[in-house]
Amino acid sequence: MKDEIFVTKAVLPPFEEYIEEIREIWDTRWLTNMGKKHERLEEKLKDYLKAERLSLMCNGHLSLELCLQALGLTGEVITTPFTFASTTHAIVRNGLKPVFCDIEEETYTLDPEKIEGLITEHTSAILPVHVYGNVCDVRRIQEIAERHHLKVIYDAAHAFGVEVNDRGIGSFGDASIFSFHATKVYNTIEGGAVCFSDEELGERLYQLKNFGIMGPEEIEAIGANAKMNEMQAAMGLCNLRYVDENIRKRRVLWELYQEQLSGLEGLILPRRARHIKSNYAYFPVVFDPDVFGCGRDEAAERLADKGIHVRKYFYPLTSDFHCYLGYLDPGDTPVARKISENVITLPLYPELEPETVVRICREIRQMKQI
Ligand SMILES: *Cc1c(COP(=O)(O)O)cnc(C)c1O
Repeated sequence: MKDEIFVTKAVLPPFEEYIEEIREIWDTRWLTNMGKKHERLEEKLKDYLKAERLSLMCNGHLSLELCLQALGLTGEVITTPFTFASTTHAIVRNGLKPVFCDIEEETYTLDPEKIEGLITEHTSAILPVHVYGNVCDVRRIQEIAERHHLKVIYDAAHAFGVEVNDRGIGSFGDASIFSFHATKVYNTIEGGAVCFSDEELGERLYQLKNFGIMGPEEIEAIGANAKMNEMQAAMGLCNLRYVDENIRKRRVLWELYQEQLSGLEGLILPRRARHIKSNYAYFPVVFDPDVFGCGRDEAAERLADKGIHVRKYFYPLTSDFHCYLGYLDPGDTPVARKISENVITLPLYPELEPETVVRICREIRQMKQI
């Protein structure tokens, strides 16, 4: 087991530092319900993400579910099938209908060219995903939304700390949601947040994450329980002190992958975007099996034989999930299908040794030579 390499490994602060951070909780016995740690973290994250307003939640998924509910959406939501289950489930669990739109070849994010053809009188929102931390075409999506009076909610679960021309990624659209799950660039064990600018939306989110309770005898909305507890917030306060350093470490490994895998015909590497501060969250590679000589399934298997466990992120498309068969129209998304069938994400986390990256790349280069 010692030599097994997985696609990610959770980041933790020094043990003593977390213990110090949670000491206060033993004194106050304030464990949850928007305590001191919660308040402090909300403020710090709002600054870090350069958001106007931010509401903490117990995870990314409920951030998205409650955000869609708070915006009072109806009917259809245009979205991408090339994402994690959460994005599509959040739409369906709100009684809304996902309408699947194809993605761009280069960024794997929603293709703005294809959005307008899917808009009907029932459409109320667009839900794009900054997949792998790649920034969606936020300007064109905004134009389309304004022209058709649609809301835009970004799933920014992968995009913690990403900036466009010094602007925080969470400041685009009507709202953006983040995930602070253990496997993400920044974690609060489990956790999430909604970033937005409308004050009223903030009030609705505050209600919804605490059962819709407004006073001891006053229940205003059909809410859920999505509160971040104090132990999570304490982890968040500790991890926030290391996030810049961790992104720098990710960057070194990301660049090393680029260097070691460049020039391999039939292997498409992630593109470097201009004007964007990246978080180097993932290193996805897409195989063109005819040119490369081996497909991604074979590549994943061969790497697994060497103890290197990559992930087929994102396969299958959410529109192909069993639970949606015969229930949702899978739409026509040939690019998403092609990428989904040919992509793997390689191991990438701050503690990963550069030598391991070199070894992984050597294995991949050898596949090409056969
Ligand atoms: C992780 C993730 C989520 C859900 O976040 P959780 O914190 O795990 O609930 C939503 N969307 C995408 C794209 C994700 O990767």
